[in-house]
Amino acid sequence: MSVIQEMGKYGHEQVVFVRDERVGLNAIIAVHNTVLGPALGGTRFWDYATEAEALFDVLRLSRGMTLKSAAAGLKLGGGKAVIIGDPQKLKSRDFFHVYGRFIDTLGGKYYTAEDVNISAADVEMMNEVTKYVSGTPAVSGNPSPFTARGVYMGLKAGASVKFGTDSLKGITVAVQGLGNVGYALCEHLRKEGAKLKVYDVNSAAMERAVKELGAVAVNPEELLATDCDIFAPCAMGAVFNGENINRLKCRLIAGAANNVLMDASVGDALNDMDILYLPDYIVNAGGVINCGIEIEDPNWRYDIDYVNTRVDKIYDTTLKIIALAKEKRISTSKAADEYAEGIVDANKK
Ligand code: NAD
Repeated sequence: MSVIQEMGKYGHEQVVFVRDERVGLNAIIAVHNTVLGPALGGTRFWDYATEAEALFDVLRLSRGMTLKSAAAGLKLGGGKAVIIGDPQKLKSRDFFHVYGRFIDTLGGKYYTAEDVNISAADVEMMNEVTKYVSGTPAVSGNPSPFTARGVYMGLKAGASVKFGTDSLKGITVAVQGLGNVGYALCEHLRKEGAKLKVYDVNSAAMERAVKELGAVAVNPEELLATDCDIFAPCAMGAVFNGENINRLKCRLIAGAANNVLMDASVGDALNDMDILYLPDYIVNAGGVINCGIEIEDPNWRYDIDYVNTRVDKIYDTTLKIIALAKEKRISTSKAADEYAEGIVDANKK
């Protein structure tokens, strides 16, 4: 595989391979685009089977960050990093110092943050040797409540178009995944009087939602085909494919999970089925907004009200994407890409 060719395919600016034998570090840092500002994106720690798999992941994810930040109105670009290996075996303060020093060599072109298998504590250790990190507990901290708030605002905007009102009272929402974001989303929905149907592989999370939020637990086989108005995927990606979407009974889809459509054709098919899909990176941008503002303005002092105001703009952005899709007669996923790419292109020198 030619790395430069792959970079060209996605439009990357820079891809850095880093290695330190002593601590066993092997990582790839991908800076996709810095037109709007420094590239922000978390570091994922994963035991990839092959280097090609890791490269594919980091290239795809970093491009997604460019689009997410642009659409969210942040003056930031997109980047991502992957550390290849077993986090259980490799993690140590020394390890994160070595990795942090590599981040530092990029001189602020790339800021890292939490992601899969990288905790706030790990980011704090990197922060001991580089200032180019974001989302430490001392500043913006846990992104999940903001991601949940953003998804909730997106759902309300979608409901206003699909159901003629943005009130979710009496609306049935099926939520897949009751982790940090999914559970917090359920709390917002419950507060507004929505009815919840839930499934999580973790039965304790489900029991909690049933007990505390009056949710109805649904079997995994039934979840996709369950009667509901909205389906909110908040667990993992690739949930919807060309075949299983025929079982859906919802009229609107929006959740926190990234890349929930198996491929772009699924977005077109949902459009043809008159199911309104709200693109993942549009509605799940609350977390990146929360930790991105501190990079946009290094003198800014954390202010939760200001963060919430910025997160709530996801409502308007969602409406814009729906309107653009309607105007151009394209799927909402294509409209989101056009919208975000348009912002980046308009700022190119
Ligand atoms: P989490 O790990 O806290 O929660 C995920 C939940 O999904 C867990 O409770 C897990 O048991 C459950 N789950 C796993 N596989 C499942 C399956 N097959 N069916 C049903 N449930 C399943 O993660 P999170 O932080 O809540 O994030 C949820 C999703 O949103 C992830 O895909 C994440 O990448 C994405 N996301 C999160 C944020 C954030 O701020 N945390 C931001 C953007 C996107």
